Amino acid sequence: MVLNPATPPSRPTVLVVDDSRAALDGLCNLLKADCNALFGLNGLEALALATSESPDLIVLDVAMPGMDGYEVLRRLKEEPATRDIPVIFLTTPGPSVSEARALELGAIDFITKPYDPTILKARMHNQLAYKRSLDQAMALSLHDALTGIPNRRRFDEHLDQEWARGFRTKKPISMILMDIDHFKRFNDALGHPAGDSCLQRVADVLSASLQRSLDFVARYGGEEFACILTETDAMGALEVAQRIATNVAAARVPHPDSPVSAQVTLSIGVATVVPDVDMQPLELTQEADRRLYAAKALGRNRIQAESVPEAPVAPEPPGILLVEDDERQRDFLVERLSVFGLQVHWAPNVAEAMTALLRRPPALVLSAGTMPSSDGYSLCQWIRDDPFLRGIPFAILASPWDGPKELSFQSGADDRILKNEDEVVFRARVRLLLELGSSPGTNLIASSGASFLLLSPPGALRSVMLTQLSLEGIRTTFASNLEEALQALRSEAPDALILDLSLLDGAPAEALDQIRAFPECAELPILVLADKDQSLLVDALEAWIQDRLETPLDPEECRHRARLLARCAHARRRLSEASTRTHVTGSTNFHRLKQGTT
Ligand code: GH3
Ligand code: MG
Ligand code: MG
Repeated sequence: MVLNPATPPSRPTVLVVDDSRAALDGLCNLLKADCNALFGLNGLEALALATSESPDLIVLDVAMPGMDGYEVLRRLKEEPATRDIPVIFLTTPGPSVSEARALELGAIDFITKPYDPTILKARMHNQLAYKRSLDQAMALSLHDALTGIPNRRRFDEHLDQEWARGFRTKKPISMILMDIDHFKRFNDALGHPAGDSCLQRVADVLSASLQRSLDFVARYGGEEFACILTETDAMGALEVAQRIATNVAAARVPHPDSPVSAQVTLSIGVATVVPDVDMQPLELTQEADRRLYAAKALGRNRIQAESVPEAPVAPEPPGILLVEDDERQRDFLVERLSVFGLQVHWAPNVAEAMTALLRRPPALVLSAGTMPSSDGYSLCQWIRDDPFLRGIPFAILASPWDGPKELSFQSGADDRILKNEDEVVFRARVRLLLELGSSPGTNLIASSGASFLLLSPPGALRSVMLTQLSLEGIRTTFASNLEEALQALRSEAPDALILDLSLLDGAPAEALDQIRAFPECAELPILVLADKDQSLLVDALEAWIQDRLETPLDPEECRHRARLLARCAHARRRLSEASTRTHVTGSTNFHRLKQGTT
């Protein structure tokens, strides 16, 4: 759990692990003035946080239920990503507690409770200062002194790290290797200092040519540079290589003795793979190098990037992660979710959910709210704080005894669904979240500015609905009967439709068929207003609707459901724009979901 997420990154981050909340509170109070304090209540949480947050220091208890502090330390030392984080043991003396063992395992300090806060703070500060100077020295050792960009050593580390990520995500990784053409002649003609300035200029151009935060460039050797492009396919990598060549040409660095151009040019080799068990990162470098060599042989000042066959088997699509401590509830929910044809992975608690999330991000997380030890709300916050996971849709599956609704939304959940909600409504809401997940970023879309059509007869219900929609900034047209609605759909082209079922008691499916028959309404998201007695009617409409709002209306719920509907409209619009702009294969999640569930 991140206590001070808004604080600037220059403050050191300290992870405190203790199974006693009182002990954690004490330590957090001690730390909060000048550190970002994270805390974990058990070994698994500690390992997950150490991996995801890379704290500067860990303060670890020894005796904890499940995994003890020694085991946590042993596992931290096993992982390259966590082995250099200093660990201080802070523990109550007892027969199973041994200072010698802690130090042998690699702890840097061992302090017993009760502790003197001033001394503990001073010791932590000494360790943090030491860690900071080590980090600075490390940063220097990983950068090239001439150009200021990462050096070969950092390149090797980054490649290993991104290779492991590609292996996990089954997404392609690309490499671009570049070599300045006839650089020996450049030095010979203009002198070494001019050669050095040229290398600096090229490094600047390369850095400026990369746009995504994970794109990486290093000085690979003398006048050779290399980019590693995470989650980038062959087409994307070729685009980057072309941008680089264009930008280097635009820099117009004179090269008076080059046989290929009056300015400095590059030969470029590009390679792409999806990392696989029987492949090594070195093979990607070798392939890029072979292509670079081919570019030289073919006359220099060119890009060599043949398409590489990608992994032959299509990876299994991401599934649903279900976090539920009660096994009977789990069985009931797995049964409810089976209709989606997706794998449902079960985690009995938050710590195991975190491990599963880091191993393979799912398409959707559904979590119980209140659970022993850590709850679904803090899991949601943790996901929202992680740059790689934050786009995954998340819903709290609520029981009657769960905390108030606001708790779900304050923690960043997209929805709160009752576990025993009507079958059809439960399915519709899960389906909607999966659809939102296939169009990431819709949570950043404000619903204000959307336009809805409300089909509802004059009366109290209509006016409550109109008020709530206008508070949400949604422009709403209303219609009192189907004829007016059809007219408005044609003239207004709204983003979504809210339909009061009391109007369609006769033949609702036919009415919805008429609406869907307009080409521009085929994908129109629809929310129905229905009271408890109309649940059979709602069931009959499952194929046509996205959500249901129960009457009498709860104003907060109105606005929440309207926001989700606006996000759905946005996602669909984006999808249809993308498919008219480029050829879309028709295998998008949205289409798959529709086929698989109706
Ligand atoms: P090609 O087009 O085949 O790549 O020819 P080239 O002359 O660029 O390749 P070669 O490998 O023959 O020469 C590389 C030159 O780069 C030789 C070396 O002196 C120069 N070089 C390597 N590092 C530096 C450096 O840090 N500063 C300067 N000024 N020159 C460097
Ligand atoms: Mg060379
Ligand atoms: Mg060269």
